[in-house]
Amino acid sequence: MNIEPPGIPYNFSDLEPAISRDTLVLHFGRHQRVCYDRVLAGVRGTQLEALSLEELIRVTERNPAQHNVYRCAAELWNHNLYWRSMRPGGGGAPHGVVADYVRARFGSYERFAREFRETAAAHFGSGWLFVVVRDGTLRIVTTSNAGTPLVRGDHALLALDLWEHAYYLDHENRRGAYVSAFLEELVDWDGANARLAQFAGEPRALRQRSDAATARAGALRVP
Ligand code: FE
Repeated sequence: MNIEPPGIPYNFSDLEPAISRDTLVLHFGRHQRVCYDRVLAGVRGTQLEALSLEELIRVTERNPAQHNVYRCAAELWNHNLYWRSMRPGGGGAPHGVVADYVRARFGSYERFAREFRETAAAHFGSGWLFVVVRDGTLRIVTTSNAGTPLVRGDHALLALDLWEHAYYLDHENRRGAYVSAFLEELVDWDGANARLAQFAGEPRALRQRSDAATARAGALRVP
């Protein structure tokens, strides 16, 4: 088995009051744990067992007969990114290269934050919001249910869980309050910068460096 059990990079109470200990205990300890257990059960004794989580997602997404495994694997991966999109004492405007990407695409952090809030509010039902780099440009996208940007080649910098289990204990039906808490108190721009730098080091990214924002940001090196 090449898939690590999920971990969370802070204590359950460290994100309070934006996200309560009770929410994290349930969300990480039960919701994501179920995904992990189902992935293990789905691949055990099959050739899928040799794959990494990313490989498993890409392989099973292409085969409708394996979509039960795909959905759980995608949820496992999405949650792994979500935990790392937040930190105690986070929030506010970005810094570093990601800030350059935000300015290049949205003009200002304020416009980015407005589109982030509007996109989250407009998403119907369960799903995810991701901040991704696609073709060298920052984008705010949503997916339904377990949909993950991994399968369309987007490079995800941040994830926000839009399933009600992520916020109902703390904010009841007020998704907007949860989204505000994420932006103002939780988002980890250091992590987003680290993921961007990692992506920028990949050969495929080097071939896609034509975008002006990428050039201004200076994140990619000419080979
Ligand atoms: Fe969740």
